[in-house]
Amino acid sequence: MARSALKECVEKLTGATSRWRQAPGTGYTPAMELRFLGGAREVGRSAVLVNDSLLLDYGMMNATPPRFPVGSVTPEAVVLSHGHLDHVGALPTLLSGTDHPAIHWTPPTRELAHVLARDTLKLHGGTYDCPFTGEEVRRMRQVSTAHNYGKPFEAAGHEITLYNAGHIPGSAHVLVDDGDTRLLYTGDFHTDDQRLVAGTTARPEADVVVCESTYADVEHTDRAELERRFVETVRTTVWNGGTVVVPVFAIGRTQELCMICAAHDVDCYVDGMGTRVTDLFGQHPDFLRDPTAFRRAKSAARTVSGGDEQRRRIADANATVLTTAGMLTGGPAMTYVPAIRSSPTNAIALTGYQAEGTPGRELVETGRAEIDGRRMPVSARVESFDFSAHTDRNGLLEYLSAYRDATILLNHGDNCASFASELRTRDYDARAPELNDQLTL
Ligand SMILES: [Zn+2]
Repeated sequence: MARSALKECVEKLTGATSRWRQAPGTGYTPAMELRFLGGAREVGRSAVLVNDSLLLDYGMMNATPPRFPVGSVTPEAVVLSHGHLDHVGALPTLLSGTDHPAIHWTPPTRELAHVLARDTLKLHGGTYDCPFTGEEVRRMRQVSTAHNYGKPFEAAGHEITLYNAGHIPGSAHVLVDDGDTRLLYTGDFHTDDQRLVAGTTARPEADVVVCESTYADVEHTDRAELERRFVETVRTTVWNGGTVVVPVFAIGRTQELCMICAAHDVDCYVDGMGTRVTDLFGQHPDFLRDPTAFRRAKSAARTVSGGDEQRRRIADANATVLTTAGMLTGGPAMTYVPAIRSSPTNAIALTGYQAEGTPGRELVETGRAEIDGRRMPVSARVESFDFSAHTDRNGLLEYLSAYRDATILLNHGDNCASFASELRTRDYDARAPELNDQLTL
């Protein structure tokens, strides 16, 4: 008998409305099943399948070639935690067949997913690196329902509630209740306030917590101190006649740095995909910490709308430029960096994590960077500022202290296993699932 028919039978006999699962050798007991399709002991391509029917996130890992979640799934519904590529990038591939899952998210996440999907089409469309077409991207709106924080809704037979996760505008913790087990999928989160979004405060009750652990072994510098150092670098460089190139991620970091510049009266240009995202956030003021400060920062920043000619003029103009890509993997930074690299009067202020194998990481480690296929020495000063949108080790410990009795499953990190064993020494029931692991809880 097919598994679904068997389940239906059991539900009819018992009158159960909750989701029943067969635990080996013990007859039928209510349980929740989780399958880790990506983001397990790694960062990128996040995807967790719940009870074979509900998918949480469906991301893409930005590698060469890009990597996608494992297995093939046909969920009834998908809930997306936030609009970063590693959480929503593979979503259109779920819409290629005839069965289209319902998609649930906040309004900013919906818009960001569209921006990212169109960007992936532009970069890789028509190649093996892009497993979807414009048709699937257009279908996303037909099956989409947007939700605000704190308003429960139904998806694939589960009750879902989203809570502000404090990572980027629209980012959510996803609480999943299947009638027996309450699962909290944290998504990426920050416990401290950023200028763009307020930190997470919700700690909904849960039996199982799938928790991100990106910075499990890092303690962030105090944010006010970090801002002070950043502003000092920018002011000193400009005062000495130099130009500062600030590589930023398009989604979240561009706007955060824009707000920091405005708060400290630093004039800046903004270039790249981040400018589009800034406009988009402006249309969702409810998801911003301080919409007035955001508007002020947006109108103070000068958007670069011309081509490389204008960029080279700006590079020579003793200015500050916020530009994608954050790890120097492409975008207008490919014009700015070569233009300013040969003078130590200029500076490059990196503002986030630099992944292994990226030109940004190479620049920090060797003082050289491969830009557009040419490896070039950089005499401009290079400084790093950890403006992370993730909580750090202390934040994770503080957050998890609300879940002492829950089962903790760590994902989205390079050191999930060692953090899990540390949590076990602190008397947590903690594990770090591996890719494709199937757990019955
Ligand atoms: Zn994220």
